[in-house]
Amino acid sequence: MKNLSEINHCKPNPEAYWCPKCKAHNQFRIHSSYDSHHGSWDHCFCCRHCETSMYIPKDAFFALKLILSLSIVCIVGGIAFPYYGLNYALWATGGFCLLLTFFVMRRPMQWSGFNSFQSAYSEQTLMEKALGHPCQPTYYEGDSFDFWAEQFLTSDEVQRLKEKYGEAKKDREIATLESSKKASKLKPFYIALFYAIGLTALIFYFHKLGMFSQLSDHW
Ligand SMILES: [Zn+2]
Repeated sequence: MKNLSEINHCKPNPEAYWCPKCKAHNQFRIHSSYDSHHGSWDHCFCCRHCETSMYIPKDAFFALKLILSLSIVCIVGGIAFPYYGLNYALWATGGFCLLLTFFVMRRPMQWSGFNSFQSAYSEQTLMEKALGHPCQPTYYEGDSFDFWAEQFLTSDEVQRLKEKYGEAKKDREIATLESSKKASKLKPFYIALFYAIGLTALIFYFHKLGMFSQLSDHW
């Protein structure tokens, strides 16, 4: 186990996994599980220091924009197609997506606070902050180390880092994890789209049956 001076885990990087509890780009453990319902692999990146689930800030912003766009599309769609009760179904789905944005907003807000705070510091101060952080990145043999380091350095730089601190492994299997991670990034998009269409169709169906007017008459 050797400390690393090449990577500053306290310097904001929106494309690297970040722990909201430790407020740093800590090293992680990757817990993989197969989601038989959706037929894909789920990867959970847990902080090696506090076990909190980490996330990529850029992806958190992507999810927020996605839900917000979906709600706008539904609301505008309801105005554009005011036929057969479809507008009510679209507005209800749009309103539901708008409510979801309040939950999805938490992660981008956590990151924004950290990012604006750290960005005010100079490189030298950030280095001092990193050295004084209670959790220090260390070198170890494993794919999760390579995956973590490649967020900040090129593949060649990671190889040099491995040669400096330990045995360099020439044939790594990072590509497999990388491709499945990209696939899982789009998974929330497909799920959100699936539920939005399903919810719109369901509300539209109930509206056609006249259930909503019966309920309002009853009340
Ligand atoms: Zn942590």
